[in-house]
Amino acid sequence: MDLNTLLFASVMARSGFILIFMIASLKGDSAHAFRFWTASILGSAIGLLLIYGDPHYPYFLPTRGALIFGIIGLSLSCVWAGGQVFLKRTVKPTQFVVMGVVPGLIYGSTRSLGAAPDLAQLLTMATLTCSTAAAARPFFVRTAPRYLRSQLLVGGAIAMYSVALVCSMILISVRLWNLSPSIGSGHSDIFLALFVDQLMSVLTYVGLIAMSLEDAQRRMKEIATTDPLTGLANRRGVQDQARLVSGASHRAKRPVAVLIADIDHFKAVNDRYGHECGDAVLKEFARRLAAHGRPGQDVVGRWGGEEFLAVLSNRTLDDAVGVAERLCREVSQTPFACGDRALTVTVSIGVAEMAGNGFFLEQAVTSADEALYLAKRSGRNRVMCAAGSARWDNPISAQPYRPTRGHPIPIETSALAG
Ligand code: GH3
Ligand code: MG
Ligand code: MG
Repeated sequence: MDLNTLLFASVMARSGFILIFMIASLKGDSAHAFRFWTASILGSAIGLLLIYGDPHYPYFLPTRGALIFGIIGLSLSCVWAGGQVFLKRTVKPTQFVVMGVVPGLIYGSTRSLGAAPDLAQLLTMATLTCSTAAAARPFFVRTAPRYLRSQLLVGGAIAMYSVALVCSMILISVRLWNLSPSIGSGHSDIFLALFVDQLMSVLTYVGLIAMSLEDAQRRMKEIATTDPLTGLANRRGVQDQARLVSGASHRAKRPVAVLIADIDHFKAVNDRYGHECGDAVLKEFARRLAAHGRPGQDVVGRWGGEEFLAVLSNRTLDDAVGVAERLCREVSQTPFACGDRALTVTVSIGVAEMAGNGFFLEQAVTSADEALYLAKRSGRNRVMCAAGSARWDNPISAQPYRPTRGHPIPIETSALAG
């Protein structure tokens, strides 16, 4: 393959990516990031044509060189800015401009001031290396709000670009100090540079597409496991998360408790005050329940309808009953807002422990469900717990744990305080 063929292939490959990226720029959450990335590929394709189509290569005239390195610098700025936008971080305009403009400025000014072309190139390569390293950085940051494994592919490809630039700096230095005058400017060197450029850029663009696919996949999973009304995990989400929590606790030989809460007479809320009011109560209840869980340790979700489930790791049955009691009391004592009304709502809670030889969520849920049924039957607005654990060899039995709390409180309205 000769140089022109490789140059043609490079530009064609970039055109293909430009087309794909332009389509991704049209709509969607990541459209803005893809606009930056499209501009970046466009810049690198123009830069490529200018570099290898220049009869003076690699000793560009000052203005032409400033233009070429300016375009390449801005192309790197766009990769960086797209990464920042995609990963929900801020784009500092000064950093964008500095990364983009400095390489071209350095080349143009040093050449205009009469510096040796190799020295101008060396300094330009040094600034380009810095810009490249800065462009790679966002993809190596592993922190929230977003982190995707495919970031590493993009970061790695851009970082390899920096390494290639450092290698070219070494070659230029060798030439500059006359250590080996023939090195670094021959046909095979140009060929190698173009080949490396092609390889890294394709890896970068494929990585960017992989990032967007991984993100879409993650979001779809999130939608499939989240309850849209309350924002809590739905039944599937709870099951997935609970398996992880209970598995970890089982290995660490720590207890796990399960709590099922069912709002009392919830149908009456819908019937009397409307479905919207019912939804508001569900949302507020979800918020209060979640506030009783420990983030990162407990799993809280909507089990279905007006039933909620919490899996409390590292909690004994007694601990969990304590949590349930506090929730039960808070719900009955603090009215729920619904428009200009304040509704008194109560909840019944069944509690069970996952312990012993097996940590089986299904068995603990069955056990807690039986306790909940008893709580309902014995008057609602109370906590009951299953004495038996979720072991294969121990038949589940539900027993009242605490004395009853009096008669169920009917739903009533009163003016909202304040
Ligand atoms: P109990 O005290 O025995 O639990 O009685 P209940 O009325 O709470 O229970 P029931 O199972 O009879 O009624 C549950 C109601 O929850 C029926 C259904 O319309 C309502 N519901 C389920 N999901 C939603 C929802 O997303 N929004 C609203 N507003 N209501 C819902
Ligand atoms: Mg109910
Ligand atoms: Mg129910």
